[in-house]
Amino acid sequence: DYALYYAKAHRRGAAVLFTEQHETLLRTQSVIEQALRHADLLREMSLVYQPIVDVRSGRTVAFEALARWTSPDLGPVSPAVFVPIAERSGLITGITEVLLVQALSAAKAWPDDVALSFNLSMADITSPQAADGIVTAIRASGLAPGRVILEATETALIQDIAQAQRVLTTLRANGVSIALDDFGTGYSSLSYVHRLPLDKLKIDRSFTGEITADPACRDIVTSIVGLASNLKLACVVEGIETAEQARLLESLGCVLMQGYHFHRPMGFVDTLRYLEAEAARTVPPIQAVA
Ligand code: C2E
Ligand code: MG
Ligand code: MG
Ligand code: MG
Repeated sequence: DYALYYAKAHRRGAAVLFTEQHETLLRTQSVIEQALRHADLLREMSLVYQPIVDVRSGRTVAFEALARWTSPDLGPVSPAVFVPIAERSGLITGITEVLLVQALSAAKAWPDDVALSFNLSMADITSPQAADGIVTAIRASGLAPGRVILEATETALIQDIAQAQRVLTTLRANGVSIALDDFGTGYSSLSYVHRLPLDKLKIDRSFTGEITADPACRDIVTSIVGLASNLKLACVVEGIETAEQARLLESLGCVLMQGYHFHRPMGFVDTLRYLEAEAARTVPPIQAVA
């Protein structure tokens, strides 16, 4: 387990690892790939859902679906670890298919004003066939496409920007919204913002973590909020863990928030209880927790 978390924490610093550690890492990756290749996806893959809250009303406007994999051999493996491996080994499309069907059926049980935010991978964005599969799955589910937000990361988009542009345009023409995930962490964020058919920016949680300590971070978030507003894009901030962060972000103009402060990702059955409790509650969550 330590190796998996190590791999996750040091993804970006892989080049500085000692050779021996690097070899361990590669072995770990191939073990994960093998387990993934032989996985019973329907049985081993599941989703948890994290609320995205409008802090003006205190209401949940969407849930982000987050993949969970419990391998019979390896135990729980973080998506930050297995998604990149699944992408490299061509296994991600099958995983996306299984997860999307599950997520759409969960969303059908929520009230009409609660949307589903679903993460897409590189392969889902750069292959027209994968995009067709996504549209077909949404149609088959009977969920209004207007209730579906597809989240794409910049690292996924950078692979083939022209193809991503085409595929996202097709998806959007079918009624879904597109969010740019982990905004601010990629290589050339700004060049994507005007080249892609976007509806929403999700500000990466690395900014949230520093926001109370670092004034420069505050300025960056203020700038992104202004950019989103000028481009008529919605804006979600991720990774809010404290009431202090939430209040500060609210004062900077952030309206849509997601993070442990509001709720940890939860299983499907818990989303129903959570929505019931929310409907019975009148106090916005920031005040309630403070
Ligand atoms: P993401 O899409 O940016 O998702 C947000 C991640 O931040 C989730 O991690 C979530 O559990 C975590 N998080 C939420 N609130 C907080 C907080 O307050 N503090 C901290 N420290 N973390 C918070 P998770 O579930 O481990 O997912 C990691 C990444 O794996 C996701 O980042 C996404 O890029 C990818 N992923 C997850 N599920 C899927 C999926 O179904 N398909 C694809 N393609 N990628 C997925
Ligand atoms: Mg996401
Ligand atoms: Mg994100
Ligand atoms: Mg992320």
